[in-house]
Amino acid sequence: MDRQSLLRALPKTDDLLRRADLTALAETVPRPLVADAVRSVVDDVRERILSGAAESFDDDGLAARVIALVTERMRPSLRPVINATGIIVHTNLGRSVLAPEAVEAAARVAAGYSNLEYDVASGERGSRHVHVESLICQLTGAEAAIAVNNNAAAVFLAIAGLACDGEAIVSRGQLVEIGGSFRIPDIMRQTGARMVEVGTTNKTRLKDYERAITPRSALLLKVHSSNFRMVGFTEEASLAELVALGRERGVPVYEDQGSGVLIDLAPYGIAGEPTVRSSIEAGADVVSISGDKLLGGPQAGILAGRRDAIERLKSHPLARALRLDKMTLAALEATLRLYLDPERAVRDIPTLAMLLSPPEKVAARARMLASRIGAVSAGAFDVLTEPDTSRAGGGALPMAEIPTTVVTLAPLRTSANALEASLRLGDPTIVARIHEGHVLLDLRTLSAAEADAVVGRLERIASETDGR
Ligand SMILES: *Cc1c(COP(=O)(O)O)cnc(C)c1O
Repeated sequence: MDRQSLLRALPKTDDLLRRADLTALAETVPRPLVADAVRSVVDDVRERILSGAAESFDDDGLAARVIALVTERMRPSLRPVINATGIIVHTNLGRSVLAPEAVEAAARVAAGYSNLEYDVASGERGSRHVHVESLICQLTGAEAAIAVNNNAAAVFLAIAGLACDGEAIVSRGQLVEIGGSFRIPDIMRQTGARMVEVGTTNKTRLKDYERAITPRSALLLKVHSSNFRMVGFTEEASLAELVALGRERGVPVYEDQGSGVLIDLAPYGIAGEPTVRSSIEAGADVVSISGDKLLGGPQAGILAGRRDAIERLKSHPLARALRLDKMTLAALEATLRLYLDPERAVRDIPTLAMLLSPPEKVAARARMLASRIGAVSAGAFDVLTEPDTSRAGGGALPMAEIPTTVVTLAPLRTSANALEASLRLGDPTIVARIHEGHVLLDLRTLSAAEADAVVGRLERIASETDGR
């Protein structure tokens, strides 16, 4: 056909929209989106005809392109992905996976009204803090507690609330960057507190703090080195020593534990992460931790400690700006409730269950996955299992090498980079690691249903590359 005939044969937008398949589509997605997509597709074909690039088309083909375009535009921007990296608290992938109890609790309060700030007993205005405060106190031994938007917010509120017009004393070995642009010295400046650095990078003694105390001292700050470790010729004052000094000189002590944990994980083979309870027992006035690192709950920051200090933070004007919404509070409450029975917590909170899953169990799942992939690989990849290391992630347990077994895929018809990209760009997104020409799938962070999805995707990829 010549150009003019092709142009004449192009269907009108309205005619295409009346097709049964596109009418049906417009019932499930916003109608303007379908009309827009029809216009885009027809315009594109018209341009291609005018430039001589298009020689034929048919309405079925145009409709299929419209459906593909609408599907792509309707795909949520924020959506689930499959984490096959073995990094358990993966900040880029949304950190902790919530327990079903937490998901249900969030969905329930989201779907209707709730007693968020309503005291049912008196029929009067209540406080949103009550929903998690007594649980946190019960789990940590603290007198009072408040939960805010995240631990970065907790750090900010604690320093602003306790030291904004005074000096905060901190060791040079603890002036850390936590991630992004969140650096203790910068945060300190923003709060209005004057930072007084003591000691050296590798050694800070109690005497260093003692000498720095003046009538303007408002806070002794201790930052847990959650995302790095110093080894060798090092020394730092213990929390108990700082507390004794603070008591003697009338200066409150605040410890940012970073990830922190609510129960001692040492009996489960994870040592070195202090519990909030241990710091409260050591006498810290305030302790802060993240809600979505090793705790395994929603994004939140928990501040627990002595009543007078926490009350000051609750009534600080920033508390309102940093407060949690009802869905997060519900999910946090449900997660904390699981901790009332530690055995249940390590079993039912996905972050802990993944972290503590025995290596031989992960290995058995890896061998099973490898054999299933082998059965559908149609010669597209060599499949093996190999011992490897999972990571806690999220700036927690930086030295912990968690033994795991990975499935290794060596593509025979494409490169590892191409296979990794196919996994990532498909639906759902599957995020895997590449190592020395292999694509690695770590079973530690894959649920059974996700492993099924991985097999399905690899089967499709294998058949698509077949016969190339
Ligand atoms: C992760 C971390 C924070 C920040 O917590 P978020 O939950 O990411 O806001 C603060 N302090 C330390 C020591 C941390 O490890």
